[in-house]
Amino acid sequence: MAPLDMKPNELEPYWLPFTPNRSFKRKPRLFSGAKDMHYVTPDGRKVIDATSGLFCVNAGHGREKIVKAIQQAAATLDFSPPFQYAHPKVFELSSRLTLLAPGDLDYCLFANSGSEAVDTALKVALAYHRNRGEGQRTRFIGRERGYHGVGFGGLSVGGMVANRKMFGNMLYGVDHLPTTYNRGKQAFSKQEPDWGAELADDLLRLIALHDASTIAAVIVEPVAGSTGCLPPPKGYLERLRKITEEHGILLIFDEVITGFGRLGHCFAAERYGIVPDMITFAKGVTNAAVPMSGVLVRKGIYEAHMNGPEHLVELFHGYTYSGHPLAVAAGLATLDIYREEGLFERARAMQETFADAMMSLKGAPNVVDIRPIGMICGIDLEPIAGKPGLRGYNAIESMFHDHDLYCRVTSDTLVVAPPLIASERDIADITDRIRTVLKAVA
Ligand code: PLP
Repeated sequence: MAPLDMKPNELEPYWLPFTPNRSFKRKPRLFSGAKDMHYVTPDGRKVIDATSGLFCVNAGHGREKIVKAIQQAAATLDFSPPFQYAHPKVFELSSRLTLLAPGDLDYCLFANSGSEAVDTALKVALAYHRNRGEGQRTRFIGRERGYHGVGFGGLSVGGMVANRKMFGNMLYGVDHLPTTYNRGKQAFSKQEPDWGAELADDLLRLIALHDASTIAAVIVEPVAGSTGCLPPPKGYLERLRKITEEHGILLIFDEVITGFGRLGHCFAAERYGIVPDMITFAKGVTNAAVPMSGVLVRKGIYEAHMNGPEHLVELFHGYTYSGHPLAVAAGLATLDIYREEGLFERARAMQETFADAMMSLKGAPNVVDIRPIGMICGIDLEPIAGKPGLRGYNAIESMFHDHDLYCRVTSDTLVVAPPLIASERDIADITDRIRTVLKAVA
């Protein structure tokens, strides 16, 4: 594949998101092409993708079927207004997504990013309670170390301090469960750790504090992803489901990362045999080729909105690009690929091989914990004394410039989550490169 010759001569005007801009602009890291397991740099190097872009390119890069679907959609129907009108394929995608979802998650709302999906779900929770005459249920419960995007709703229920501290008070009336992570109790465990189910009982403490009648919803990621991959303790999510159900509180699973095969099922909800009241999804739904996100909603929630005069809007919410034709086309083609290639099953079959490969990094310099689950794994590095995040940043530079590896690093934690097409050889290759990088930044 011929690399695109894209060498910008002016780096300054672009303000990169979640990036140290000054360091980046001194020594930029650019990708100009991608195919299957690899990115291509403007100078023609192939860089192996150990994190599926940003946990989103689950079927690998540059998939022909998706490319063609997008091209055809752009040529046929570039845009269709989503308010008061629709286009046929958005119904098809909704049907297919609701069929993939467990239980009676039978309705689908669309948005464009994970952040928007989360805000949508929180708003639907409020509107649902109000429609049922329980409008006093306005409180949300998130979790420490949770990540739900960067909108004010998602920030408020999120629990990553660096994302929150600069941005004022956010939504009021939000409380947080404790993180499930406890290194002392669970370091180096594979898949779900044995310890920690009882942490779900903290919800009972919050219910005793606030009263269930004031709580609209609990939102958690089944596996906290962006904070560094924190798998749920065995039995924890089941316990959350039981407590929320008993108290009339909605349970929202934010499956922006865990959706579309990452944990060996279409949704993590299926792995745990749980039907949450809503599932937020994004990323993998279109293999990231066109931005799209959405919320899967249980039947009872949709039905609670279907009242009032029939000529009036039932939910005053939506985006100009909800169910955009290009995203829908990409979504349908992506779901075809997942089914045809059995990628969710493949992830399930590969998870132990992946976990063993990741665990082989135990003993590499500065590795203080490894947490593989499904096809995602957090690797914590000991920070350089007094300079948190520096070893992680050094690793980013070493990977890109010296070892042809791309892997997401957040502070001093690597998060490995290869495309679900990864072969055993790809996984071994990624593991070897990480080992070399860890030595380089020791
Ligand atoms: N929710 C979760 C669980 C995520 O992991 C993310 C992004 O990584 C988001 C929400 C936000 O998604 P976006 O960046 O598309 O707004």
